[in-house]
Amino acid sequence: MSQEHNMRRVTAIRNGTVIDHIPAGQSMRVLEMLGINKGTSVPVSLVMNVPSKKMGTKDIIKVEDRELNQNELNRLALVAPDAHVAIIRAYSVAEKLTIELGEEIVNVVRCTFSNCITSNLREPLAHRLKVFSRSPLELRCHYCGRPQDLDELANNVL
Ligand SMILES: [Zn+2]
Repeated sequence: MSQEHNMRRVTAIRNGTVIDHIPAGQSMRVLEMLGINKGTSVPVSLVMNVPSKKMGTKDIIKVEDRELNQNELNRLALVAPDAHVAIIRAYSVAEKLTIELGEEIVNVVRCTFSNCITSNLREPLAHRLKVFSRSPLELRCHYCGRPQDLDELANNVL
């Protein structure tokens, strides 16, 4: 199936952000990480399980009238490190943004363990999570060493 065909599945947007190559089934988590929910007033379209040559199947999200910033990209890296992000202005791609998942994620999310030293307000420490494995994604806290619950991460965005 051609790329063009896939793009037509979702209406073209005038201004906003397209997040493509999201692993199939992860789009809800992406929305959560970006804080897009019931309270969001801009139009958001989402397609799930679109056939993809590279990935088998993938999800695509289009957010109108909103351009993702670096902080949001850092959050996106935690759920879809290989996603492609395009900023759309006047119906064409104005910018392509690269997501980078480095070896350590600093001050993006807090450790999901409530008894971690980082949750002690008297000791203001940087929030550091180590990328232990990329695929499947496994993150561990720099301080307590505990593997992070990926389902909880969205609730722990800083
Ligand atoms: Zn911790």
